[in-house]
Amino acid sequence: PPLYKQRYQFIKDLVIKYKPKKVADLGCADCTLLWMLKFCKCIEVLAGLDIRENVMKEKMHRLSPLPADYLQPSERSLTVTLHHGSVAHKDPCMLGFDLVTCIELIEHLEAAELEKFPEVVFGFMAPAMVVISTPNSEFNPLLPGVTLFRHSDHKFEWDRAQFQSWAVAAATSYDYTVEFTGLGTSPPGTEDVGFCTQIGVFVRKYPKNGETVNSEKHTEHAYKTVFKAVY
Ligand code: SAM
Repeated sequence: PPLYKQRYQFIKDLVIKYKPKKVADLGCADCTLLWMLKFCKCIEVLAGLDIRENVMKEKMHRLSPLPADYLQPSERSLTVTLHHGSVAHKDPCMLGFDLVTCIELIEHLEAAELEKFPEVVFGFMAPAMVVISTPNSEFNPLLPGVTLFRHSDHKFEWDRAQFQSWAVAAATSYDYTVEFTGLGTSPPGTEDVGFCTQIGVFVRKYPKNGETVNSEKHTEHAYKTVFKAVY
């Protein structure tokens, strides 16, 4: 399967393994991952965030309940919400999540946004688990036609050492552990370049206590809710 599908499947497999109840996808674009995750029975809350409102709205109807969902109500409740906003800003609607995914997001952030990202995601949202994927620039020479970056909207592409030192610094600052993996292997003999997509899986070291309630009181809303469905 194409790499983007492998990335979605990687997240789906993690959801099946760890059974998070509340999952947020940051930089959710056309909501394909959210749509795949709505079929995971363990999930009760799904949220998406993107800075491009139009892209997010394109196929959001897929997130609405189907007639069958009303005809055969299931035991679990599911709420799906889409927010328009930036990962550089904090909003209390992102508190209390078990899993936050950032698939091919960070390389789209301007330097000032990237600088705020760890404090927003690890410090403020502070979910039990965070998954971040980004291109591995060491793989680029194997991709036909790629000169500087894989996509013109990329602000940077990191090699493994760059991504890992950034990730370890963020994890250390906010009490997370991080493990690295990836998707997309190269032909035999070129394995030393690593995976095409590099992935960091971050796990919070300590349970959160009480702080959630406080931040909720003291943080203004920064995102605009553009879609909500309750199953
Ligand atoms: N996660 C999706 C996937 O894997 O198919 C989409 C990845 S797309 C390459 C990057 C997305 O990040 C775009 O939809 C873009 O609008 C969004 N994005 C860029 N900067 C953002 C920001 N500061 N806050 C939230 N989303 C942002």
